[in-house]
Amino acid sequence: MNGESSAAGAPRGRLPKRRHRKARCRGCGLHAEICVCPLLPRVDLPQEFLVIQNSIEILRPTNTGRIVATMLPNTRLLPFGLRADSVAALVQARDEVEPLRAEPAPAAEADGESGPKRSAPFDESPLRRDDTDYLLLFPSDDAADLTPEMAAPRPGRRVALVLLDGTWHQASRMSHRIAALRGMRRVKLPPGAPSSWTIRNPLRPEQLCTLEAAIRVVDVLGRRDEAGRMMDGLELIEARMLYMKGRLPRPRGLEDVRAERLAKERREG
Ligand SMILES: [Zn+2]
Repeated sequence: MNGESSAAGAPRGRLPKRRHRKARCRGCGLHAEICVCPLLPRVDLPQEFLVIQNSIEILRPTNTGRIVATMLPNTRLLPFGLRADSVAALVQARDEVEPLRAEPAPAAEADGESGPKRSAPFDESPLRRDDTDYLLLFPSDDAADLTPEMAAPRPGRRVALVLLDGTWHQASRMSHRIAALRGMRRVKLPPGAPSSWTIRNPLRPEQLCTLEAAIRVVDVLGRRDEAGRMMDGLELIEARMLYMKGRLPRPRGLEDVRAERLAKERREG
């Protein structure tokens, strides 16, 4: 239902076989020869972004949580539900290099036990720092509309925005399973345009991919220009993924997507 079988069914200790064996960039998910990482904006914000990644997401080339980490350097990726010997753990270990800032998984594989493998315990310490005010982006009934004031760090304190990276079902499960999230202040994005990330079809048009959600946050924080440049980056990646799938004749450039966005903005006034 939620896609967990894709990782659970893969043989242990080996990366999944792919039809296309071309190496993919870890920063943007594209084939290395059309990698766009040098073209993506790096947006420095005083707020920290903590992206809790469902372990299934780590395996997916279309995952956008890692692109958040590429564009917003003040991001940490926190893997949830990693099994110590799983394919996802191997991939996550491989990704523990720049430009990603993945948190190391808790060491649980060294005890030599066999038998049923359980998920390594999720390290909640990044979500429980005394000097940080947390905002969990989760559209539950008790969530308030995010405002720049809410996300402004108070003197001597940090603000961290927590994003849940996974399907709606996975995000909902993480919000229940991770104790530190239960009492966390919840915020939601103001209503906006429907998702433009067509690589994966959402169940509902208002569902955004993790990168779109991060871009909306940047926009709400008053950083319009940076949000626009991040949007160009998202559309560039999307266009090149479509090229990889054979649905576009050539890889498009940053100028193309930027010109289209600006023209669209002018049309919409
Ligand atoms: Zn790249």
